[in-house]
Amino acid sequence: MPKVALITGGSRGIGAATARLAAERGYAVCFSYRHDEYAAEQVLQDVRALGGEALAVRADVCSEADVLRLFKHCGDAFGPPHALVNNAGILEAQTTVENMTADRLQRVFNINVIGSFLCAREAVRRMSTLSGGAGGAIVNVSSRAACLGSPNEYVDYAASKGAIDTLTIGLAKEVGGAGIRVNAVRPGVIHTDIHASGGEPDRVERIKSAIPMQRGGHAEEVARAILWLLSDEASYTTGSFIDVSGGR
Ligand code: NAP
Repeated sequence: MPKVALITGGSRGIGAATARLAAERGYAVCFSYRHDEYAAEQVLQDVRALGGEALAVRADVCSEADVLRLFKHCGDAFGPPHALVNNAGILEAQTTVENMTADRLQRVFNINVIGSFLCAREAVRRMSTLSGGAGGAIVNVSSRAACLGSPNEYVDYAASKGAIDTLTIGLAKEVGGAGIRVNAVRPGVIHTDIHASGGEPDRVERIKSAIPMQRGGHAEEVARAILWLLSDEASYTTGSFIDVSGGR
């Protein structure tokens, strides 16, 4: 039986690259998406072309009912997950803190933070060796923004990723004795659609000269770090972070 990886936000960007690489490495892949059915179908086709098994579930991570349904579909199709990648995340139009509305803050924290907590909770319930599970690994997709603060762009997003870093440290300590490792990657500036939702599709081009490696990263480069943290190669690594950021 293949190991099972559940990836949130697997239809595009870093999540899609992670879904493809997980399938290549032999995982059965269940991934969620929010709206983009066409992109989800493309990822399914890519995984199947690799000879892998995949399931896409339309499920909003900030809806508890959707998260429960996501884990149920995953369990019904493949069995409980051995790996969770808490990847789904958003940012909103670039602005300053003094112009942020409560609605915006709620959207960003609901998806980036509460969504990750809900998925982590469901994963722990299924993975914990203390309640009959087989153990597992969780990778949270944070951001270098958690350390840099993203001034004049999206301090709310950066703060939500700071919360993800704290979730990673605290949960790793809680479940270290239950056969579950919890780690995070902190990507820097990666070529994906997320920058367009901030209102600047070419953000990578603007910033790249300030990156020590003088270029943006690719989703596949982040996926490789995620897959390493999920793998047995990382068997004594928990509560840790890999910055995939070209030195920024
Ligand atoms: P992206 O290209 O915008 O893709 C986002 C993915 O998340 C899509 O599959 C989207 O689904 C899904 N999604 C969004 N909201 C969701 C929700 N509420 N429920 C379920 N799925 C949802 O983003 P990305 O750049 O790959 O970012 C992935 C993660 O990496 C995020 O957590 C982001 O904060 C983090 N990150 C990205 C960068 C970067 O430079 N790109 C840097 C640091 C950290 P649909 O296709 O249906 O919309």
